[in-house]
Amino acid sequence: MGVVLRQGKDVKLYRNRKPRWRATRRRELKARGITPANRQEIWNVRTSALLDLPDWVFRRAVPGLGCLPHQVWLRPRDAKRLCALDRAAGGRSQVTKSEYKRCGLCARPLIGYEAEQRRKVVESGPMGRTTPCGPDCAQDRETRLWKKLAVAPARSEQ
Ligand SMILES: [Zn+2]
Repeated sequence: MGVVLRQGKDVKLYRNRKPRWRATRRRELKARGITPANRQEIWNVRTSALLDLPDWVFRRAVPGLGCLPHQVWLRPRDAKRLCALDRAAGGRSQVTKSEYKRCGLCARPLIGYEAEQRRKVVESGPMGRTTPCGPDCAQDRETRLWKKLAVAPARSEQ
């Protein structure tokens, strides 16, 4: 899977100052006509002992990113819940954390580097949110092809 995974390491350093600069930054962006983009995270969880994942896991799996029988992309809160279940079953889940952002135009899920870039574009100016996420954005708005690809990777469209 050709995705660059990155973790936010810069946040912890300034933990005690975070609320203040964050508020200041939001005010500055608002003054320039920009709605700040929240930094969202998504976790890829691969369970080790829990082999039959409960139904809620697949209902809560982030649409468009696909999942395997024991491996799924979840929002942090759901991911923690799944890890706890795996731990209770005697396992130790493998977790990869990554930045997450959904394109506001075609709704395609972006992860890692692509999500980071999108957040920067959104905050670059008042028109950021209406900038396409990539060359297929306009087409994806119609077809939602990203959704079909994630659901049925092996089936050919006839
Ligand atoms: Zn898009």
